[in-house]
Amino acid sequence: MSKLLIVGTVAFDAIKTPFGETDKILGGAGTYIGLSASNFGIDSGIVSVVGGDFPEEYLKMLNDKNVNTDAVEIVKEGKTFFWSGEYHNDLNSRTTLATELNVLADFNPKVSDEYKNAEFVMLGNLHPLVQSSVLDQMETKPKLVVLDTMNFWMDNALEDLLNVIKRVDVITINDEEARQLTGEYSLVRAAKKIYEMGPKYVVIKKGEHGALLFNEEHVFFAPALPLEEVFDPTGAGDTFAGGFIGYIAKSEDISFENMKRAVIAGSNLASFCVEKFGTERMENLTAEEVQNRLVQFKELTQFDIELNS
Ligand code: AMP
Repeated sequence: MSKLLIVGTVAFDAIKTPFGETDKILGGAGTYIGLSASNFGIDSGIVSVVGGDFPEEYLKMLNDKNVNTDAVEIVKEGKTFFWSGEYHNDLNSRTTLATELNVLADFNPKVSDEYKNAEFVMLGNLHPLVQSSVLDQMETKPKLVVLDTMNFWMDNALEDLLNVIKRVDVITINDEEARQLTGEYSLVRAAKKIYEMGPKYVVIKKGEHGALLFNEEHVFFAPALPLEEVFDPTGAGDTFAGGFIGYIAKSEDISFENMKRAVIAGSNLASFCVEKFGTERMENLTAEEVQNRLVQFKELTQFDIELNS
């Protein structure tokens, strides 16, 4: 069975959407990635940090889904990373209201021996130096390293971010962040520039407008499933990334053709994430629901057209 090493925030989020708002609830990039990847029956483990204020039951919930949290350090006297955001009416854009790094500010990640030879590594959103440190600790070269990041790190640690981007195979990034990183409005041009920074594959997430996968020569597009109700987009990007790498880790195939399927698997899982506030929908997702929606995805994208020869 493939091993997947995940690094990312395990956090408290407070979210405001046009439909309501939450107090501090479970969130974090690492949490969403772990929950999403857990749908593939692989051996996954998270490296992260939380404070003494973090309820043990959240870690237990991840463990119950076979996500190993032994390398989630608990700093008893510290406070957990906190993020707060507000979504605008279209739910496609949001404003960050607060980012409190707390225990993340002096985090020194320690990869446990069990995951130092993981074939797949997902560098979820957090400080690029933490992402780099995780790569430094690997004892064998992973088959695939995927990196996700966001504007906060472009604003606050750009040089470190560019250094870690050089070291990864795939980057997943949203459209606005791709534009910010490259200064290019066209996503095709932005993807080319990011490709030149190091990654062989670039995935640009466009929220409800789907996702684009680029390599040097090809581009593939997957729509997002048109949903009747979108409640809270928080974590959709991380859920996408967790589904993308989870699918690849399960199939152990890093070809471009398989990455196309992985983009669909990621989009499929992200479509559930947005249906409820926070992690609730992902915590209660069944294999049957995932399967049924994949069928919908196939129907949505398949067509038959005659081509003039
Ligand atoms: P997404 O909606 O997929 O972009 O991710 C939202 C999640 O990212 C939330 O659960 C936050 O806790 C987490 N998050 C927000 N800002 C940051 C940041 N600067 N670094 C790491 N994680 C973050």
